[in-house]
Amino acid sequence: MSMMCDVIVVGAGPGGSMAARTAAAAGLKVVMLETRQEIGDPVRCAEGVGKRALCQMVKPEPEWIAAEVKGAKIYSPDGTCIVMSEDKGGAEVGYVLERKVFDRGLAMEAARAGAKVMVKTRALGLLRKDGVPVGVSAMRIGEPLQIEAPLIIGADGVESKVGRWAGIDTTLKLKDIESCAQFLASDPSVDDQYCEFFLGNSIAPAGYVWSFPKGEKLANVGLGIMGTKSKPGEATRLLKQFMKSRFPNGKVLEMVVGGDPCSGPIESATADGVMLVGDAARQTDPFTGGGILTAMQAGIIAGDVAAKALQAGNVRREGLKEYEDRWREEIGVHLARSFEFKEFFVKLTDKDLNQLLGSLKREDMTKMDLRAMLRVLFRLNPKLLWELKHLVV
Ligand SMILES: Cc1cc2nc3c(=O)[nH]c(=O)nc-3n(C[C@H](O)[C@H](O)[C@H](O)COP(=O)(O)OP(=O)(O)OC[C@H]3O[C@@H](n4cnc5c(N)ncnc54)[C@H](O)[C@@H]3O)c2cc1C
Repeated sequence: MSMMCDVIVVGAGPGGSMAARTAAAAGLKVVMLETRQEIGDPVRCAEGVGKRALCQMVKPEPEWIAAEVKGAKIYSPDGTCIVMSEDKGGAEVGYVLERKVFDRGLAMEAARAGAKVMVKTRALGLLRKDGVPVGVSAMRIGEPLQIEAPLIIGADGVESKVGRWAGIDTTLKLKDIESCAQFLASDPSVDDQYCEFFLGNSIAPAGYVWSFPKGEKLANVGLGIMGTKSKPGEATRLLKQFMKSRFPNGKVLEMVVGGDPCSGPIESATADGVMLVGDAARQTDPFTGGGILTAMQAGIIAGDVAAKALQAGNVRREGLKEYEDRWREEIGVHLARSFEFKEFFVKLTDKDLNQLLGSLKREDMTKMDLRAMLRVLFRLNPKLLWELKHLVV
């Protein structure tokens, strides 16, 4: 079977759906391929997003949201807790999504804008003419499929192949992958009001544990550890250990493992006829691991640039430069800063973490965002944080 369109989007995660929605709304003929039979399932995500940023891009349907939280609680290894308000807690705090429903909802928005969504359809490679990509070969429910299009948007997640097929270097060093395990757990002691973060090298080496409430004492509980500190089964072992101490009576209803890129911005997210979006382009926050909003943001930019490039008749790499420039300006600058934080954070000992969080005990955190918190931390711990001096402005 063969088809033709203007843009093929590979992957129906938040990045792909926003790209497809934007390109279709601009009048392009868009086909979005998704290898899974159910969009959004299984969930490999803590499901936390900031409210304001989400609402700037979409109008959330009530069923997309499992819980609304008051803020974030961050625990140091010695149990000191600091509380941040929801609007200051960063890009992962505000709503806890029901991602199975959310991802499907975004794909539905793309379909409503005119995109053709094809589930159970796996992209297998790029079609080329004179060396230039002219489409995608795929497998749809056991049947080979060829789709021709001058432009391909690779939104195929952390294990992205589209980038590799197009010759874009998306290689991740082991230290730049967070190895994650997560449970959907039910326990009477789940804090339904706050997203909780637990720090400590014995519970999550060079990473953290999260417990994000999903209503009625249900929580998405998980952890991410730096790839170099991990070995097969390690993330799950540590998560079980954490569950035993924090939620000893917890019932585990789902369990998933996965990886999260934390490399900071890659050198290029474009090639002739190809743009990469979201995790595929390593546009995830390297410090927090959050990537839903950045994937959506990049998807919108890619969809917009797709329309302009096709209109201008130039989908070569130079014709896609606007995408490269805009995502770097709107997302990349933050990712680069965050990468520096991560590189510093992973070196901290438990004693350092106790000192840092302990120093905030007497501060009013209710009006402080992460940047303001860093400034205060720097004022209180100049010696420990000297390396980050240039970021404290
Ligand atoms: C454990 C964990 C916790 C996280 N917690 C948070 C959080 O709380 N907040 C947050 O903002 N971010 C979080 N993230 C990151 C977030 O999940 C990702 O950044 C986000 O999903 C990226 O969206 P995306 O569209 O780029 O990719 P994805 O959501 O991964 O979507 C990619 C899609 O492409 C499909 N696909 C792959 N290959 C093919 C192919 N060959 N053909 C067709 N389809 C294909 C996949 O099936 C998938 O549906 C977390 C990540 C992990 C691993």
